[in-house]
Amino acid sequence: MTVKVKAYAKINLILDIVDRRNDGYHDLFMIMQSVGIYDTVSVTENKSETISITCSDDDIPLDSRNIAWKAAEAFFEVSRLKNKGIEINIEKRIPHAAGLAGGSADGAAVILALNKLYKTDYSVDELCKIGVKIGADVPFCLTGGTLLAQGIGDVLNRVRPLRRCYIVLAKPDFDVNTGYAYRQFDRFGKSHTPDKLGMLCAVQSRDLKQICDKMENVFEQFIEVPERITIKEIMKNNHALGFCMSGSGPTVFGIFACRSDADHAAAALKGFAKDIAVCLPVSRGCKIVE
Ligand code: ATP
Repeated sequence: MTVKVKAYAKINLILDIVDRRNDGYHDLFMIMQSVGIYDTVSVTENKSETISITCSDDDIPLDSRNIAWKAAEAFFEVSRLKNKGIEINIEKRIPHAAGLAGGSADGAAVILALNKLYKTDYSVDELCKIGVKIGADVPFCLTGGTLLAQGIGDVLNRVRPLRRCYIVLAKPDFDVNTGYAYRQFDRFGKSHTPDKLGMLCAVQSRDLKQICDKMENVFEQFIEVPERITIKEIMKNNHALGFCMSGSGPTVFGIFACRSDADHAAAALKGFAKDIAVCLPVSRGCKIVE
């Protein structure tokens, strides 16, 4: 039997690092939004008693370094079920090392698929407890939609959904290592604190313009990304309501009220970004499709 899951990317409408914790992790304040670009993750049972991975993107590791692999191991450990053998196929559309939680989305998809394949019937909360063992963004990816994420990213509260808008994602030809990004924060700290309360009020009143005005990501203060300014200028010239970097970067996203403005911006961004997509907000983090 095969279970196929759509695993959606996310953006951060606001990202503040509140503090560094004694355990080395960081306390965060993020409002995260699932968006309509997705990897398709298929999990198929076999009788090999091992995990194997195939992926459409040659840059992604196919062994125990893959977050999908770690997710499967965590599922079998927590459920105490014996792995009879699974093959994971990842059709990659979410750019990697992009700040879009592509790896976490694949991990979430595997946990969701195994819950169905092994008929464990775990609740979303129980799945999130497995997910957080492999990555702070995995609980978000299992839940999705529009959420306030605090703690290391695993304390989730639903906020009101983003109104319909068009989101342009532009990833420059450059990878950011998330560990390095946090080390930069530990070295330099932040010079400005995003307006968290203002953003929360804007989100709860579903005021798209105000949300766009309040978008801010502290990583932009100490992570240099080539073409970021140019990308923002192009988005602005094409009537973006707002723009910001997602996660630890380097992807910059812009929010547009009108589809044709988003399409024009995406066309104008060619040559300044390697991966460009126009998508909508979605209300799920991952979803079984068959
Ligand atoms: P986040 O927004 O959660 O920080 P990201 O979008 O910046 O994540 P990922 O796409 O998750 O980054 O990739 C980070 C690294 O993890 C990649 O360089 C890649 O080698 C590794 N990796 C392991 N498994 C996967 C996977 N299934 N998909 C993508 N990357 C993976």
